[in-house]
Amino acid sequence: RTALVWFRDDLRVGDNPALTAAIARGTPVVAVYLLDEESPDVRPLGGASRWWLHQSLQSLRASLDALGIPLVLRRGAAGAVIPLVATEAAADAVFWNRRYGRAERTVDAALKLGLREAGLHVQSHAASLLYEPWTLTTGAGQPYSVFTPFWRRALAMPEPRRPLPAPAGTAGTAQSPQSETLEDWGLQPSAPDWAGGLRAAWQPGEQGALDLLAEFLGEKLPLYPEQRDEPAEDVTSRLSPALRWGEISPFTVWHETMRVRAAAASGHPGAEAASAFLRQLGWREFAAHVSFHAADLHRVNWRREFDAFEWPPLDPRALTAWQRGLTGVPLVDAGMRELWATGTMHNRVRMVVASYLSKNLLIDWRQGEEWFWQTLVDADAASNPFNWQWVAGSGADAAPYFRIFNPVLQQQKFDPHGSYVRRHVPEWGTPDYPEPLVDLGESRRAALAAYERVRRPA
Ligand code: FAD
Repeated sequence: RTALVWFRDDLRVGDNPALTAAIARGTPVVAVYLLDEESPDVRPLGGASRWWLHQSLQSLRASLDALGIPLVLRRGAAGAVIPLVATEAAADAVFWNRRYGRAERTVDAALKLGLREAGLHVQSHAASLLYEPWTLTTGAGQPYSVFTPFWRRALAMPEPRRPLPAPAGTAGTAQSPQSETLEDWGLQPSAPDWAGGLRAAWQPGEQGALDLLAEFLGEKLPLYPEQRDEPAEDVTSRLSPALRWGEISPFTVWHETMRVRAAAASGHPGAEAASAFLRQLGWREFAAHVSFHAADLHRVNWRREFDAFEWPPLDPRALTAWQRGLTGVPLVDAGMRELWATGTMHNRVRMVVASYLSKNLLIDWRQGEEWFWQTLVDADAASNPFNWQWVAGSGADAAPYFRIFNPVLQQQKFDPHGSYVRRHVPEWGTPDYPEPLVDLGESRRAALAAYERVRRPA
């Protein structure tokens, strides 16, 4: 008898309920990670995500080795490959932590049925969200579409469970099925090696995530409420890729933060800062819940009345200028270059560049969402399209359509000394810096007129 644990968006051994349950059976355990680019509608990973995955799997393999668990790497459609690996491992039970995307749920449900029919025990667990999406509903049993009441309700729920104790080693060694190698998968960019900046900025894997959390709670948290909107400051947690890949559990983040909050004497700024931080984790939950209940958030407007919006024909030169950080708007260009160089962008600047693309340039938000999907190390199937739609005005609890960020005022307010802009756009203020691609005032008026037509169809 052997237990098979299928790792997906939960690349950690700490607080991993599926792994813990498999080990608790007292049989040998085999782990598998599947690169699935074949199951219908499962969105292929973007470039930066592929880079992250390569590093993170190396780290997971080392942690599993220490527990005596082999990690098997395979490619293909889950419906075909997982049963095969189960047979090769002589597994009589399969464990996994749930995924919440529609296509992934369809794959998992079919697989569960098939494996059970074949006589295997199959068990799925909650590990990636603090609240299961079907448990947090309005009084009328409907999903929430506005954040504030959603989060109020979440905070009134029983507190999220405590993280599980670290797993001990397994009983006996399993017979390990054949594994492909990470190198076979070609997840790392070859020439040109654009990942140098990513390597310098990030340490993927479970230990890196725990270090970031400790650093955040120990040093940055008191500054968070005041400075979290200032892109030149480094006061946010930088945990988003670790949360996306499940290298850290939201339960661990929740309880560690609550511990710091409790330790801060009442009235201490730490308490307020902890709540502000957990509220951001609330946005992650909200995005996941909205996406769980919606069709294909990266393709379809959440507010269907936006389907009537007529995007002008795409101007590829404008899109390229935006992607490369050559729009002539300093804060936009700084953000886009930060993204390309490091695989991330400060949240405030993400809002500004998204507003500039979808409103000043009148380019369909899906183009921006796809670019972020390719380039962000935290590219998340729920948070990315949710936030794009939020900025564009088509999303849940979205900024009203007439809210168009003014990137010049945003820079004055949040980067008043230009430190962030200069860090990423060293030629700013010299003749080498491009002229503005569009006039901000005129393009704003054109966007308002276009949006007005959706609001009041002719
Ligand atoms: P912190 O301020 O330390 O916040 C803690 C955690 O809360 C984050 O790690 C993240 O998991 C969560 N969080 C914070 N803000 C949001 C938010 N607005 N929506 C959802 N979760 C949030 N975040 C992603 O994780 N993946 C994405 O693909 C993504 N795409 C975005 C696209 C746009 C257009 C915008 C405006 C925002 C996007 N965000 C996305 C949200 C946010 O910008 C990042 O989560 C944040 O910048 C990550 O930095 P941090 O971990 O230091 O955040």
